Amino acid sequence: MYPTPFDYYRASSVHNALELLLAHEGSKLLSGGHSLVPAMKLRLASPSALIDISQLPELQGIRQDGETLIIGAGVTYAQIIQSELLAQHCPLLPEVAAWVGDPMVRNCGTLGGSLAHADPSADYPASMLALEASFKLVSTSGERVVAAADFFQGLFETAKRDDELLTEIHIPLLHGAKMAYEKFKHPASHYAIVGVAVVLTESGARIGLTGAGPRATRLSKVEAALGTDYSERNAERATEDAVDAGELLGDRFASAEYRAHLATVYARRAIARASA
Ligand SMILES: Cc1cc2nc3c(=O)[nH]c(=O)nc-3n(C[C@H](O)[C@H](O)[C@H](O)COP(=O)(O)OP(=O)(O)OC[C@H]3O[C@@H](n4cnc5c(N)ncnc54)[C@H](O)[C@@H]3O)c2cc1C
Repeated sequence: MYPTPFDYYRASSVHNALELLLAHEGSKLLSGGHSLVPAMKLRLASPSALIDISQLPELQGIRQDGETLIIGAGVTYAQIIQSELLAQHCPLLPEVAAWVGDPMVRNCGTLGGSLAHADPSADYPASMLALEASFKLVSTSGERVVAAADFFQGLFETAKRDDELLTEIHIPLLHGAKMAYEKFKHPASHYAIVGVAVVLTESGARIGLTGAGPRATRLSKVEAALGTDYSERNAERATEDAVDAGELLGDRFASAEYRAHLATVYARRAIARASA
């Protein structure tokens, strides 16, 4: 299907993009286009105008600022995979990127686009929760930083307002932490039917779950039951009934009960691989 007609503007800066957003009611930002364009073709989205932010240098780059890693919202999955800084300080992020879609999706899709879109089956939300990341949101009236835990609010729903642009992803450095992502992927799209991101630190575990429910969540009960004993025996005990199927989504690919079972299995695998 073809999208409904729309205007197209290429923003010259973040400030210009924000002005264009305000000036054109019903407009949408376009980054990698790998979620928005399919939605437009299916007529699930019919923006009056697209404001292209894909060429903005302000949204590029991966750098370290003291004890924080800062990733531009326009950084692609492929750039994350190639980043030596991330390989050294936060290997979970390249690992997750390698699981996303296919080479074309990884070359075009952006971290900021994925987080702003908040697809319940997207991979990155689980690791953002486990890493306790935060997101910088900018509008013409100012800027604010929102913790990942407060950002994902529901099915395709985030704390980002329509007049805001996500510019940066902030990841606190975790010295000595061990990390892993395990995913049961949809065989065609490669989206997560269930994905579990695990970060193990000396003071405790952080476990993020995606794909299973309407939004990514932390498995707080499992984290508490696990404590700092990451042995196989303790992980088996702590992950039993990791999630209540009543809180999960069921569809023609997997029932809620099957997703609950997968959450237990994939949490165990991720804990085992991270701690190994
Ligand atoms: C075949 C296929 C397979 C895929 N497989 C996977 C997979 O396995 N795992 C996975 O996680 N994802 C998968 N995806 C989705 C892919 O990762 C998308 O690229 C990503 O979800 C959106 O990023 P984007 O840069 O393409 O955003 P776009 O499609 O450009 O935008 C998506 C939404 O976010 C908004 N937006 C974009 N950037 C910003 C910003 N900086 N600030 C505010 N709002 C913004 C847009 O307005 C739009 O509403 C797949 C997609 C396809 C087509």
